[in-house]
Amino acid sequence: HQKMANSQFDYVKSFESMDSCLPNCWIVVRIDGNNFHKFSSKHNFKKPNDDRALGLMTRAARSVMELFNDVVLSYGQSDEYSFVFKKGTKTYNRRSSKLSSVVVSQFTSSYVYHWKEYFPDLQLGYPPAFDSRTVLYPSDKNLRDYLSWRQADCELGTLSSDKNEILFSQFGINYNNLPQLHRKGTVIVRDKVTYASRNALRKEPDDKRSKAQSMLLALNIDIIGKQFWEGNPHILA
Ligand code: ATP
Ligand code: ATP
Ligand code: MG
Ligand code: MG
Ligand code: MG
Ligand code: MG
Ligand code: MG
Repeated sequence: HQKMANSQFDYVKSFESMDSCLPNCWIVVRIDGNNFHKFSSKHNFKKPNDDRALGLMTRAARSVMELFNDVVLSYGQSDEYSFVFKKGTKTYNRRSSKLSSVVVSQFTSSYVYHWKEYFPDLQLGYPPAFDSRTVLYPSDKNLRDYLSWRQADCELGTLSSDKNEILFSQFGINYNNLPQLHRKGTVIVRDKVTYASRNALRKEPDDKRSKAQSMLLALNIDIIGKQFWEGNPHILA
């Protein structure tokens, strides 16, 4: 059998398409909940923004960043998360299908694994699925514009007419008073970066924390303007 696998049948391997990502480009893997309109209503998500669900999404994203050190930043809102692999990553020889499939698989299993911590009183009604795609961005500007696009979508979504109507007519909530989590979404970075900028801001000596002690930091801040990027130059370096 072994011999046959090596001769008669192994030509089929060559039917696999070559899908290595172009060198020197940012690799973004974006996952998105499959039919979460239904999933969110089935699990009584609070509309328009359920904080337990957003927290669980960010927990699952952390687990992806723990698996892949080459993910320098991730950004999430609603039922989606984008993972940015550094330009020079060699993970899976940059194979697009490998990258997007392992990211979405790790994300989904982590989402289910941690469900109980975020919804202690509600049993998971059925196994959720997420879709995934890989997109390449050749310039830093393209990458920043991509992330701006996703954050603008978050702000627009929170501002959208039906949500606005719910907010104003039923709860009398002013958009400007909504939590940053709802308006800005969540960006996750590694602490090496954020400690550096924090130390600079506080004019304190550099943090002596070792890389091994580094932790992931989830922030609900603006990433469209230049302030975040100028304060954290390591991310695009
Ligand atoms: P598709 O499979 O095409 O992605 P979808 O139903 O998931 O379809 P999306 O455009 O991804 O459509 O929108 C996700 C929907 O999930 C939102 O419209 C909202 O109804 C719901 N949703 C996601 N996250 C939350 C949350 N944290 N709180 C409340 N509702 C949420
Ligand atoms: P990669 O991430 O590249 O796929 P891998 O360690 O998963 O690496 P595979 O070629 O996929 O390598 O091989 C899967 C390995 O998992 C097998 O070599 C075997 O050691 C183990 N394995 C998988 N299924 C079983 C099983 N049912 N019983 C015992 N061992 C198993
Ligand atoms: Mg989709
Ligand atoms: Mg969706
Ligand atoms: Mg979505
Ligand atoms: Mg195998
Ligand atoms: Mg395997």
